[in-house]
Amino acid sequence: MIYLVEDETNIRELLVYTLQSTGFEARGFASGKDFWAALDENAPRLVMLDIMLPGEDGLSILKRLKSSSATAAIPVMMLTAKGTEYDKVLGLDLGADDYLPKPFGMMELVARVKNLLRRSRQEGEKGEYSAGGLYASVPRHVVTVFGDEVKLTLKEFDLLIFLIKNAGMALTRDHILSAVWGYDFDGETRTVDVHIRTLRNKLGECGKLIETVRGLGYKIGAPDAGPTKRGKP
Ligand code: CA
Repeated sequence: MIYLVEDETNIRELLVYTLQSTGFEARGFASGKDFWAALDENAPRLVMLDIMLPGEDGLSILKRLKSSSATAAIPVMMLTAKGTEYDKVLGLDLGADDYLPKPFGMMELVARVKNLLRRSRQEGEKGEYSAGGLYASVPRHVVTVFGDEVKLTLKEFDLLIFLIKNAGMALTRDHILSAVWGYDFDGETRTVDVHIRTLRNKLGECGKLIETVRGLGYKIGAPDAGPTKRGKP
């Protein structure tokens, strides 16, 4: 399911029609308000955002999507007017996954959507993960936050990858301890808290993707952020 927020009725209907006629499920919304209401019911696999909208604008919607662990992994494509708006949005780097300058052709739109969906699926298959400015590669042992590499200790890295692989699931401290430190590790669950704290600090802006689940433990990411749960376009 692709969600699209665009206030101009003609454009919105044309985009939804084009996506549907090329085999995608798509829903259009005229405002952020309608979009958030629908998001509560169903998480889309891709979101397309116009910038100038009545009420909450597209940049604010993008920022909110990318700063919540529940939605950070959903790829977002911004539809921007060419020129200064485009430059400004690129400069802000709020974690959008693609930018499509207006005016654009419908075939270009479909190609970009397919490409973005393919890219996010391939990342999972290659042991690469990205969510809201956070990128992690298991084979290369690299973590970046908005493009800047973050140096993690081996345990911090393992901990982050374990959380990402179980994205959307609340994990108990005991579960994390045995998975990351091993069953015969003679430590306390406080070890987990300490490592989570330094991990959050090192991840900076992306640290808030790691949520504390009260009385239980921790979790990261959306239900569809995991490597195996992404569907085909
Ligand atoms: Ca608009």
